[in-house]
Amino acid sequence: MSVRVGIVGGGLAGLSTAFYLTKYFKSEELEITIFEAAPGFGGRFNSWQLPEFPYPVDNAQHLITGSCHNSLDFFGELLPHQLKGPEGFYLEDQTELPAVTLPWSMGLFKLFKRWAGSYLKALYGGWKILCLPADSPAAYDHLQQWLELNQPAALREIFWSNFIGSVFNTSPRKINFEFFQQWFGQAVLNDTDGLKLYFFRESLKTVVGQLVEQLEATGIKLLTGCRISRIRPDQRMIEAATGQHFNYHRLILALPPPSLQKLLSPLSYSKTLSESLESFSASPIISVHYRLDSDPRVVSPMLLETGVFDWLFSHSPNRPGEGYLQLLKSNADDLLTEPGEAIARQGLQQLESLGLLNFQKVTNYRVIKNPRATYLRPPGQQCSPVGNDLGFKNIYLAGDWTVPDWPATIEAAISSGKSVARRLADQLDKLK
Ligand SMILES: Cc1cc2nc3c(=O)[nH]c(=O)nc-3n(C[C@H](O)[C@H](O)[C@H](O)COP(=O)(O)OP(=O)(O)OC[C@H]3O[C@@H](n4cnc5c(N)ncnc54)[C@H](O)[C@@H]3O)c2cc1C
Repeated sequence: MSVRVGIVGGGLAGLSTAFYLTKYFKSEELEITIFEAAPGFGGRFNSWQLPEFPYPVDNAQHLITGSCHNSLDFFGELLPHQLKGPEGFYLEDQTELPAVTLPWSMGLFKLFKRWAGSYLKALYGGWKILCLPADSPAAYDHLQQWLELNQPAALREIFWSNFIGSVFNTSPRKINFEFFQQWFGQAVLNDTDGLKLYFFRESLKTVVGQLVEQLEATGIKLLTGCRISRIRPDQRMIEAATGQHFNYHRLILALPPPSLQKLLSPLSYSKTLSESLESFSASPIISVHYRLDSDPRVVSPMLLETGVFDWLFSHSPNRPGEGYLQLLKSNADDLLTEPGEAIARQGLQQLESLGLLNFQKVTNYRVIKNPRATYLRPPGQQCSPVGNDLGFKNIYLAGDWTVPDWPATIEAAISSGKSVARRLADQLDKLK
């Protein structure tokens, strides 16, 4: 008899769990079903069809750094031609771009290059960070002092506030310092590819569509519009909001903390997990999409040094006339209550100050607020790692927030999926 596996949540965590299960098991050994509440898969990794735009607009660019080895393996294996390599990022000589003069300071890597040796200095700074005691915020202040003495101001600002702040989607002061130390050591200091950036060639909707096609071809059942509203661990059963039942042998909940809390609330579960779930807080990302009268001619992505927004992405889809510019602000609590028009105006000013609207006009725009873009551990608080354990027999967790040593990102979502699939493979081998 094959083992029935239910996966609740069809974001990257759920999809990658299914993919790795198909790698560890023969198709006849498992019967996998993914239950997704939304009308489509992908979760936060997706695109919208907006009335102002005649083509899908991405929910931000979704970058991957070279240290995201699980993501690079996953997309490399499933969609080998979708990831644009790091050569797409280096801002070698922006001044040669046709008709657009860009300020000198718009690229992180260019900055590193500009101050010869600063890259090494930054890494040395990272080493110092790792040697600091982990009791933030004292450690943070200590680090600030060290950076002030040893790093050029602009590099300090960009590296620390913009890059690190946007990877963690929070103000550096709110980062759990111990967690940051761990991540920095793993992702930047010990990884020569750590700061390379990759992005997707096609819209995220297309990428997800291709992933789903590949998974369907392996025999996985993928259900959309199917919100799971109840779990009955004693009967190994889940119920959909529509009233349908599904029996499982193994269940994976690949959900963000608030959805998981809702689903678990009628059950009594471990105090550690319940405390962990409560301690996670959501952090917003706001992006503004600008449609232009002709395709943008700008190297992308760019980390911006000054102004309200911290990233600029230029999307140039395959068809001419479908390009758009996108400004993004991480850790956007202060903008969340502002009206969209005011936010878009600030973005326009920033684009103008960069000289990007000298030769092109904005014809339409749309502001997207993601109040729950990522989930963060609180600063200075010792959080027990979450991992894949839920405390109920045969039920496991996946999701970007469950990985103890990585910020809530694509990499965390995919490595959570891989790790839970491994757990099942281990366990089921033992049962045979
Ligand atoms: C604007 C923005 C920009 C980002 N940029 C980057 C970036 O540049 N690089 C990066 O690495 N990461 C980025 N991220 C983070 C990245 O998108 C997430 O870390 C990742 O997609 C999370 O995947 P997940 O599967 O864990 O969760 P989700 O994508 O949230 O998936 C959970 C799924 O569960 C479904 N669901 C919820 N409740 C139920 C239920 N009861 N029954 C059935 N289904 C349910 C939801 O509909 C959803 O599809 C960004 C996120 C946002 C919002």
